[in-house]
Amino acid sequence: LTPEEFRRLGHRYVDWVADHRAGIDDLPVRDDVVPGSVRSRFGPEASDGAQPLDALLPLVDDVVASADTRWQHPGFHAFFPANASLTSLLGEILSTGLGAQGMLWSTSPACTEVEQAVTDQLARALGLPEAFTHDGGGGGVIQDSASSAALVALLAALHRRSAATGGPAWRETGVTGTERVYVTAETHSSLAKSARVAGLGERGLRTVPFSPGTRTMDPAALADMLRADTADGLTPVLVCPTVGTTGTGAVDPVRDVARVARPHGAWVHVDAAWAGIAALCPEHRHLVDGVGLADSFCTNAHKWMLTAFDASLMWVRDARSLPAALSITPVFLRDKASDSGAVVDYRDWQVPLGRRFRALKLWAVLHGHGLDGLREHVRGHVRMAADLAERVRTHPGLELAAPPSLGLVCLRTTEGDDATRVLLEHVNASGRALLSHTEIDGRYVIRVAFGSLGTTDRHVDELWALLSGS
Ligand code: PLP
Repeated sequence: LTPEEFRRLGHRYVDWVADHRAGIDDLPVRDDVVPGSVRSRFGPEASDGAQPLDALLPLVDDVVASADTRWQHPGFHAFFPANASLTSLLGEILSTGLGAQGMLWSTSPACTEVEQAVTDQLARALGLPEAFTHDGGGGGVIQDSASSAALVALLAALHRRSAATGGPAWRETGVTGTERVYVTAETHSSLAKSARVAGLGERGLRTVPFSPGTRTMDPAALADMLRADTADGLTPVLVCPTVGTTGTGAVDPVRDVARVARPHGAWVHVDAAWAGIAALCPEHRHLVDGVGLADSFCTNAHKWMLTAFDASLMWVRDARSLPAALSITPVFLRDKASDSGAVVDYRDWQVPLGRRFRALKLWAVLHGHGLDGLREHVRGHVRMAADLAERVRTHPGLELAAPPSLGLVCLRTTEGDDATRVLLEHVNASGRALLSHTEIDGRYVIRVAFGSLGTTDRHVDELWALLSGS
């Protein structure tokens, strides 16, 4: 494709995206798709001959657009919505257009330094301590996912811990089987996966009880566990408080948890994948209280910050911590800039070697919406959740299953699990809204997570009509 052909086709492709987004509210949130029906539209072999790219769009209409779950639909309130704003898409076009691969500073100085600059700006906008900025001795990095952030935090923790004890070095011998990671029953499964990938296995995961009457980590119980485990010859490696759990949006007491964990030498990784973005608003700044005592913090721009997947923001207090654990330098990757120590090579801050220029879409979002635009985006959803929660409170057949948290409302019917399940199916079958579920104390619960692009009060009214039968 020549640049001139790209220019012509690009207009058509952009028109396709614009038309899709402009008409999305008229489509169902989710198509009714028979498993295998999309795949069956493809022959077993790719064609040998090139085909005109103009002809691909009608095929996409036919094969893809009719078999989708529309994450950008204003009625999408399932899981946690993933905002792929058109603003961030403009940044994506630039990024892919440049086609840079930013594994080393020298392979794309712009890729590295824009990422450093925007993560520093965002650290300040979220109210993170200056120590988490590149200027302050720590720094931010854009991972593909919060799961990857948790994994590299654990690897850094394993390295730091083994280096501090003077025992066998984790980098040479791997885990010893004594390492333990501390979570709660509400912690995202990505921590269990990280423990598995890092070789700790299921026995490496310790579940700290909730404080009485809450679904948040009990710092006193954590203290008891850490003491007992240490006395038993185990090694506390990482404690993960969550700010905004996936199930109910519960917020662990980061400050108290970190105070308990630090004397044991455990790394404190704060998983704020969904809720952390809300700290852009001064009224939600309490969400980052105590993060100054943590070693790393993660929040997903690809959830609530108008940035297309993937863009998970991670900050560490010590810029050396990730390279210390992850850096391996074959001769073909050595260069003068790296050897000078004056640059960041982001390959050492992640598992893969290669990396995309993700920071451009973040820059586009910051530029195009400003912090005020991002704050208004969050505030609108929080207001909608408060509105829905109030309606649930006054409805005789519904009840809140957990205290509402930011844009998340957990509810159920008063008639039991089967009725709640039927209600969820009824809402989802309507095509006007899509919700997901969780379990709280063994009971089936509907989750309504406001956070999609374009959701308005009219969509809340529509959802309420479905939920309340009105
Ligand atoms: N942590 C929390 C609290 C989450 O809610 C999620 C996803 O919803 C994750 C981690 C995993 O996020 P990712 O898909 O970026 O790995």
